[in-house]
Amino acid sequence: MGSVAFDSVKTPFGEVEEVLGGSATYFSTAASYFTDVSLVAVVGEDFPEAHLDFLKGRGINLEGLERSPGRTFRWKGEYSYQLNEAKTLKTELNVFQSFRPKLPPSYCEASLVFLANIDPELQSDVLKQVKKPKLVACDTMNFWIEGKLDALIKTLASVDILIINDGEARELAGEVNLVKAAKKIIGFGPKILVVKQGEYGALMFNGETIFSAPAYPIENVFDPTGAGDSFAGGFMGYLSKCETLNDAAIRQAVIYGSTMASFNVEAFSLDRMRSLKQEEIESRYHAFKALTAFEPVTNRAS
Ligand code: AMP
Repeated sequence: MGSVAFDSVKTPFGEVEEVLGGSATYFSTAASYFTDVSLVAVVGEDFPEAHLDFLKGRGINLEGLERSPGRTFRWKGEYSYQLNEAKTLKTELNVFQSFRPKLPPSYCEASLVFLANIDPELQSDVLKQVKKPKLVACDTMNFWIEGKLDALIKTLASVDILIINDGEARELAGEVNLVKAAKKIIGFGPKILVVKQGEYGALMFNGETIFSAPAYPIENVFDPTGAGDSFAGGFMGYLSKCETLNDAAIRQAVIYGSTMASFNVEAFSLDRMRSLKQEEIESRYHAFKALTAFEPVTNRAS
């Protein structure tokens, strides 16, 4: 569950107006490379069939995507050369303002739930309707940390994994040091915290252990929008096929998440996902391994 949106985005490399975006859109599309996905969101009367056809073409179940009278959610943002953080220029909730999600019966049996970035009250509403989820992960952003902190803290109490960026982690915890911030956030409920750091990669805090993964070095970064949601899609998609959700599985999931995010930033909107092939995902996953592989050298003179 999350937003399905029209995004207007400006980066140092170009500008687009009212293109397909939204946290649930990016998440579902990335996750669809790994598993079956059922989406919960709302769009307005202005949302084109062509966008729905794209999502259907990825095999995403849209039974839980409502169409309501009114305008679709809109977000406007821009990035400076420092591409790691978006500056929000405008957020129009529109049809999300009165959205009360009612899950189709088949959705209530889901074993993995991802609460993408949206109003934490809606995140809780959806979660309550899922009978016995095996794993619940969640994302949020400054808009909700600043606007609906109490509701967000309530949602976090029922979440296993929180996936947010470093700025959001610091803001949520009220703590500059990330290790201290992680401890505080884990105290809110999630057992695991994944902190995304844009081009610097991701840190995963799980109990006393910390795992660090780099971001794949990309020559042509056009638009970071949706990188976080694509990360989450690869992460949850990978976990959906794991029988045991142990630390090793979560580490692999971080790498698949980083892999999906690395593709997404290569084009505006979801355009890279329109041509992305399964083989490219596997090949970048292996390139990721090679990126950080090193062995002790045994033949050094003493
Ligand atoms: P990210 O992965 O963090 O870059 O997510 C970008 C997506 O989040 C964009 O496509 C936006 O439409 C969506 N978005 C931006 N602000 C919000 C918000 N306050 N609530 C839900 N979705 C949002």
